[in-house]
Amino acid sequence: MKKKVIIIGAGFAGLNAAKQLSKYKEIDVTIIDKKNHHLFQPLLYQVATAGLNESDIAYPIRSIFRKQKNVTVYKDTVENIDFKEKVVITKSKRLYYDYLIIAAGAEENYFGNTEWKKFAPTLKTLKDAQILRNKILNAFEMAEKATSDQEMKKYLTFIVIGGGPTGVELAGAIGEMTRITLAKDFRNIDPRLSRILLIEAGKRILPSFDENLTSKAVKDLESLGVQVWTNSLVTEITDDSIKIGNEQIEAATVIWAAGIKANSLSSIIPSEKDKMGRVFTANDLSLKNFPEVFVCGDLAHFIQNGEPLPGIAPVAMQQGKHVAKQIINDLKNKKREEFVYFDKGQLATIGKSKAIAEIRNLKLSGFLAWITWIFVHILYLTGFKNRIFVTLQWAWSYITFKKGARLIIDDEK
Ligand SMILES: Cc1cc2nc3c(=O)[nH]c(=O)nc-3n(C[C@H](O)[C@H](O)[C@H](O)COP(=O)(O)OP(=O)(O)OC[C@H]3O[C@@H](n4cnc5c(N)ncnc54)[C@H](O)[C@@H]3O)c2cc1C
Repeated sequence: MKKKVIIIGAGFAGLNAAKQLSKYKEIDVTIIDKKNHHLFQPLLYQVATAGLNESDIAYPIRSIFRKQKNVTVYKDTVENIDFKEKVVITKSKRLYYDYLIIAAGAEENYFGNTEWKKFAPTLKTLKDAQILRNKILNAFEMAEKATSDQEMKKYLTFIVIGGGPTGVELAGAIGEMTRITLAKDFRNIDPRLSRILLIEAGKRILPSFDENLTSKAVKDLESLGVQVWTNSLVTEITDDSIKIGNEQIEAATVIWAAGIKANSLSSIIPSEKDKMGRVFTANDLSLKNFPEVFVCGDLAHFIQNGEPLPGIAPVAMQQGKHVAKQIINDLKNKKREEFVYFDKGQLATIGKSKAIAEIRNLKLSGFLAWITWIFVHILYLTGFKNRIFVTLQWAWSYITFKKGARLIIDDEK
């Protein structure tokens, strides 16, 4: 009898597990994802700021496994899991498994202030990116029609909350839009006068990077007109302002990039969790009392050298491959292995030709770091056509200083 492996989530972890397992004909793989596409989240900010199109960074899961007859894909949402009976319960099906890989990722975290979500949208899905793109582009349209200076100022103030890589990338890209891309497109306003604030509660932005690289990133952001406010805790968000201590700042566009927590499926997983809801696993990424169940990617809390691994794509990819290998080890009666993360370094981009990179002891900034960033992102983008389109689009926007996808879609709603 063929072994049945169910994978929940075709993100970086689930996709890599499925690619490994699909090579074994004695295994039946079922992928369940609520979306029909694998999404390259590191480039979402480019869609949100009109640099790339949706289809450039997303690829249908079904197409990826077109040739693998032992892989079945269901677009469905997992609602429950019966760990004793080994059954996954989706909105429309009950599916039995021999092995289960839970790779459902993370979701936004407003730290209990859920009412902020409607005023300060976040960036996690393609839909989020569309909403942000509409919001950012509409702000310029509204400013062009404004009837007072105060109104115009409000529309030309953009606030990004959260100084991690996503916040930095978004703020830098908005800076570039205002200073370069849209600079000459309007008649009543000067987009170059836009105010862009990057707000961070901690004492510095990009805390996982070397301090000198953070300083370089701050300078690069400032050169694009972004003001970086550190030690600034946001205490209130309304539809047209935020509050930091006693200071109220009016802004039509506020973006939340300040935190994530584990996917809500975490609550049904019988294991200890950290305060973000991430699941503690055994050394091989399986669950302590359920060796046939693995948790990996952003949903897992895995400690290496005394520190939990960060929620980033390379960790998820390596963990996905690792759990697939453990299932194959079981089938070959081989011993399971401990997961060990190989850290290849970290990158963040600030704008055209500006980035920082930390690759072991090598610390890069400026153009060289940016080229490294481009190379890495193209390399890991799924789908041959996507890679060509994205490379061409970047080359085009590099030469012409133009951004392609500046469309406001579905505005009427
Ligand atoms: C805006 C942004 C920028 C980022 N930039 C970087 C970066 O530059 N570098 C980097 O290394 N990392 C970056 N990350 C983090 C990186 O994307 C994540 O670490 C990575 O995606 C985690 O992979 P995963 O497989 O665990 O989860 P995901 O990739 O999030 O995949 C989870 C999958 O599970 C599916 N799913 C969830 N719940 C269910 C359910 N109940 N039923 C069915 N399917 C479900 C989802 O649809 C999704 O496809 C970024 C993340 C974001 C949001």
